[in-house]
Amino acid sequence: MTSTGEQLAYSDAYANSIGATVRDVEGDGAPLIVLDRTIFYPGGGGQPADRGVLLRAADGRSWTVRSAKKAGAEIVHELEPDGGDPPRVGDALQVELDWARRFALMRTHTALHALCGVVWRDHGALVTGGNMEPGSGRMDFEFESMSGDLVDSIEAAVNAELAAERDVRVNVLPRAEAFAIPDLIRTKVNLLPEGIEQIRTIEIVGLDLQADGGTHVANTREVGQIRVTGYESKGRINKRIRIELVDPA
Ligand SMILES: [Zn+2]
Repeated sequence: MTSTGEQLAYSDAYANSIGATVRDVEGDGAPLIVLDRTIFYPGGGGQPADRGVLLRAADGRSWTVRSAKKAGAEIVHELEPDGGDPPRVGDALQVELDWARRFALMRTHTALHALCGVVWRDHGALVTGGNMEPGSGRMDFEFESMSGDLVDSIEAAVNAELAAERDVRVNVLPRAEAFAIPDLIRTKVNLLPEGIEQIRTIEIVGLDLQADGGTHVANTREVGQIRVTGYESKGRINKRIRIELVDPA
């Protein structure tokens, strides 16, 4: 067995096109393609998997990738089931993301981290979960004092932080070092499985630091502004805040 294919989404979120070689083809209905390297994000942490295309220059054929996922350590690319014969092992392909969609997800994901940072800093509330689509998302908090009256001030505070043009950094730390960062505990880094030795973190410098596997923009200016579109009480403690990007494109 060869080593796991290179997974560039984690180190270079802006890579949107790359050459790669097919390593494995599986699946009956929807073919599952393993490449020696990929830029696809397989989904996780509330961020959906990427979509895109695979192009074979040799004969001009192309295949739509409708999703991607982790299978063991590998990222597999799930093709549309009616796309005809899949590529073959050894084929040289160009791998292209649906970049407009991915970039919207990067902006949305970073906006949600800015929201987490503001809610933690100003209200001491922990995040319990979240989810997103391109251009909109929600976060759940343990936030007993949250009420509809706070929506405007939270929105204004998040927009001020985004406008402050804060850099967004990716770091990969040994587990012990990550556990020593007090801020990480609030995002439940201690729930990570024992076997994981390297912890990837996303830092909005001066605002937020989380253990996170997703893809993000490099500076908060790329997010633009957000609006809070909804607030729901899911009980006495648990509160949900919905946001969207003011400029979704
Ligand atoms: Zn995240």
